Amino acid sequence: MDHFHYRDRALYCEGVAVEDLATEYGTPLYVYSQATMLHHLRQIQTAFADAQPLICYSLKTNGNIHIGRLMAEHGAGFDVTSGGELYRALASGGSGDKIVFAGVGKTDDEIRKALEVGIRFFNVESEEELANIAAIARQHGRKAQVALRVNPDLPPKTHVKTDTSVKGVKFGLDIETVVEVAGQYVNHPHVEIVGLHMHLGSPILSTDPYRQGSAKAVDLIKKLRHQGHTITYLNMGGGFGIHYRKQEALPAAAFAEVLVPAAKQSGCQLVLEPGRFIVGNAGILVSRVLYTKSTGGKRYVIQDAAMNDLIRPTLYESFHRIWPVRPAPGFPTPPSDYEADIPNAVRCDVVGPVCESGDFLARDRCLPPLRRGDLLATFSAGAYGMSMSSNYNGRPRAAEVLIDGRRHRLIRRRETYEDLVRPEREVPT
Ligand SMILES: *Cc1c(COP(=O)(O)O)cnc(C)c1O
Repeated sequence: MDHFHYRDRALYCEGVAVEDLATEYGTPLYVYSQATMLHHLRQIQTAFADAQPLICYSLKTNGNIHIGRLMAEHGAGFDVTSGGELYRALASGGSGDKIVFAGVGKTDDEIRKALEVGIRFFNVESEEELANIAAIARQHGRKAQVALRVNPDLPPKTHVKTDTSVKGVKFGLDIETVVEVAGQYVNHPHVEIVGLHMHLGSPILSTDPYRQGSAKAVDLIKKLRHQGHTITYLNMGGGFGIHYRKQEALPAAAFAEVLVPAAKQSGCQLVLEPGRFIVGNAGILVSRVLYTKSTGGKRYVIQDAAMNDLIRPTLYESFHRIWPVRPAPGFPTPPSDYEADIPNAVRCDVVGPVCESGDFLARDRCLPPLRRGDLLATFSAGAYGMSMSSNYNGRPRAAEVLIDGRRHRLIRRRETYEDLVRPEREVPT
């Protein structure tokens, strides 16, 4: 469920007409529905309530501090993957004891800073990293809490670039050797192994990987306890899929059905790191048609959002629903099946201004006829949209606006040309 809907043939986000937002804030524009993101956070909180989970919102999904603040205010902690995200988590009002830190390449500075603010635990991804965290904790007279990230070696379950639990990816420790690594840290003065971490990949549209992964985790936790570790946390990461094409995503309750019993069986507190599930369907990217043209036997709609604003189609061949904010007569609302032929529609590629053949938001897509000046909405763009944006082709980043009922509030201003060159100007001459 989300709060984007057509009323009198025009798209609304909650109680606000998207056309009005485009007029006021310009395009390309990210529009977020507060009710939608809070609904999804609550759905997870409710479904998993029996396991009293620590829900750490994955900041890399959408790091805007105003969204972060909403998460913190509604009970979430944060999952961060860098010092920059740790900074964002704190700027969002996050408290250290609800922050977990993952990533294969944590620098000494990042580890030091995380120890200083007292994060809950590090998700450790290699033997060398574990040794380094121990050394830094020792220098600072601390004891670092860590969860060992394990690669459970499961069958492929999502796009190859975002599958993190098949053999051979860079993430985590091998399941065959993790117990051996842990053996060297029993009663260690500066490192305490308190948990097991398993982020399987994303997006995942089935509960099977969670069933298989958590079974392996429960088994491993027994072995780690047998060694003498006090394992308190079972961290099953994020990865819950969302609706990109139609209503293909599972409700949080389906994942809870698998993970809550596993957590109980392990005798651990469950930790989750959802990102996409919370904000993915809560955001759209609004753009304006610049030109249309036919070339090489193909029809193109050229609009002002590009791969620098939303790179998922280019990077992962991802599918995003696209529909006009005010469709031509005869096309009142979006189709239930975007991949089927739509009578009287035009099959076209939706592309941006960036100088790359790979710059597109959609290919061979049936859309109502479009004209210069028409507005388009690209749906399910709240996750890995703005957070993966860049300035490529000298393009300032889009503005972001948050909707709450009939109110709208700018939560990131559009970047200016001056923003583009400032770090280059601010150097010694
Ligand atoms: C990216 C990531 C997540 C969030 O994944 P979603 O699919 O957005 O829920 C959680 N944990 C880790 C370690 C990640 O890298």
